[in-house]
Amino acid sequence: MLDQITELQEAGLRAVAAATTTDALEELRVGLLGRKAELPNLLRGVRDLPPDQRGPAGKAANEARQAIQSAIDERVATVAAAELDVRLRAERVDVTLPGRPEPVGGLHLLTRVRRQIEDVFLGLGFDVVEGPETETVHHNFDALNHAPNHPARDPGDTFYLAPSTVLPPLPAAAGAPTTADGGPLTRLLRTHTSPMQVRIMEREDPPVAVIVPGRVYRPDSDATHTPQFHQVEGLWIDVDITLADLKGVLLSFARAIFGEEREIRLRPHFFPFTEPSVEIDVSCHLCGGTGHRTDVAGHPRCGLCKGTGWIEILGSGMVDPNVLTAVGRPAYDPERVQGFAFGMGIERIAMLRYGLDDLRPLYENDLRLLGQLA
Ligand SMILES: [Zn+2]
Repeated sequence: MLDQITELQEAGLRAVAAATTTDALEELRVGLLGRKAELPNLLRGVRDLPPDQRGPAGKAANEARQAIQSAIDERVATVAAAELDVRLRAERVDVTLPGRPEPVGGLHLLTRVRRQIEDVFLGLGFDVVEGPETETVHHNFDALNHAPNHPARDPGDTFYLAPSTVLPPLPAAAGAPTTADGGPLTRLLRTHTSPMQVRIMEREDPPVAVIVPGRVYRPDSDATHTPQFHQVEGLWIDVDITLADLKGVLLSFARAIFGEEREIRLRPHFFPFTEPSVEIDVSCHLCGGTGHRTDVAGHPRCGLCKGTGWIEILGSGMVDPNVLTAVGRPAYDPERVQGFAFGMGIERIAMLRYGLDDLRPLYENDLRLLGQLA
């Protein structure tokens, strides 16, 4: 029996040493030491041996069982560590890989155009300021030299606020209202950003060079007008500012937005608060100012500039002395300081720049359209 035990032990230890997985070792544990295995059966047969053989046989069988048991335990520890290693390598996540985020959106076209415009003028030394969207009739019309019967004052062209309307406080930066309002129709939604010309001069001494982007309101609604739209006002006041400064600044602006080859021209016009007043045309970026699409077969007339080679982009002029006087501050004595002002529609600039013929889709939040303009 002792030989048999030795044989079983050696065979068992060889099998354990050869096993390479924890599953195989578990099978060996059952096969070698389990209820139906040979070695435990031998142990149970010890009691049938003659008394002098029982002691050595039982001892040998127990030792064999313990030897196999510890061999399995050791081997399991080794194999399990190797298996873990393999699994860690297989399931490793490379955290240094760059991410692949879904697109999460972008700035609206009008926001991007506004920022482009701001960047141009910041580069030319202008500050960017904002003003209140509810205005006094004084700042929106009177102080800007609008005659009492000027058609823009008509309630069909301006959103007036009822006297009982609860108004939000004006931003502190804009300064307190200076007129003694109180009668009917003295408050309105500003129809242009120009009232900020007056507010700036009320609170700051020259020189001032600012642009004022913001929302403005007029009761218009068609393909090229919406009741709420956006303007950028510009004002530069100092000693000896001339029409040549106006042209230089606006030429730089036109070239930054529409291309380095652009030229501008000044056309006489009329605005109540500038004198002389001019409209600024930029040479057409679509046809290169020729009026004809040389890039299209048959060289048809250019639709963007209607064959003229020029596109109107904004209104401007030298600040009317009456406006400087209306500020009511000696610092703005029109005998001493001069300047120019301009105003442009952000929607118009965006439509011209990106070839849109209807601005209403810009406000409809259709991502299929807005995505194309991103
Ligand atoms: Zn053209």
